[in-house]
Amino acid sequence: MKKVLILEDEENIRSFVVINLQRAGYAAIEAGAGQEALDRLRENPDVGVAILDIMLPDMDGFEVCRRIRAANKQIGIIMLTARTQEMDKVTGLMTGADDYVTKPFSPAELTARVDALFRRISGDGMAFQDLLQQGPFVMDTRNHTLEKAGNRVRLTQVEYAIMKLFMQNPGRALPRENILSSVWGRDYEGDLKIVDVNIRRLRIKIEDDATNPTYITTVWGFGYKWGA
Ligand code: CA
Repeated sequence: MKKVLILEDEENIRSFVVINLQRAGYAAIEAGAGQEALDRLRENPDVGVAILDIMLPDMDGFEVCRRIRAANKQIGIIMLTARTQEMDKVTGLMTGADDYVTKPFSPAELTARVDALFRRISGDGMAFQDLLQQGPFVMDTRNHTLEKAGNRVRLTQVEYAIMKLFMQNPGRALPRENILSSVWGRDYEGDLKIVDVNIRRLRIKIEDDATNPTYITTVWGFGYKWGA
């Protein structure tokens, strides 16, 4: 289900938005303060659109927008503003918002804007380029998610990076040194064993039988090979 985050400190407005998003078929994630919104987004990296109120108790919505945008270029951002001054719109655009809805707004107007943003960020036909599909596995490189036979596999950032490297190099034996430098960076000075530890964890999550791996196979004295 497509996820939308709604950041609004006024509970009446927030629940009104949530109900209408749910009616339109979205999963709604709520936050009542800026920091809470940033935390929710970290927990839910697959949120496609964030709706941000501007007047908030802890920081203003523009600051929240700036921080979200610094970490996430893909997410769609709609500012919710009670003010209609041009200044707000300029500030919002400067901080990376995609759209505005001025209070008071109709539920139909807001969901129409959310729909439009989802269409734009997934871009008809472009969406397929973001999917790596091999065997039962589908990786969405835009949302950083992996599914196996339609079920979400929860991966750490490092596990995800290893999987992506594998799925971009199917059937190729990858030296452990290459996995280390491409996932941890060239300057990483840690032990190669960290690769093995992560592969072991990854196998538990993605193999049918982790003791007899068939997707990630070991190439003795060399590295690992992916095949699905
Ligand atoms: Ca407010």
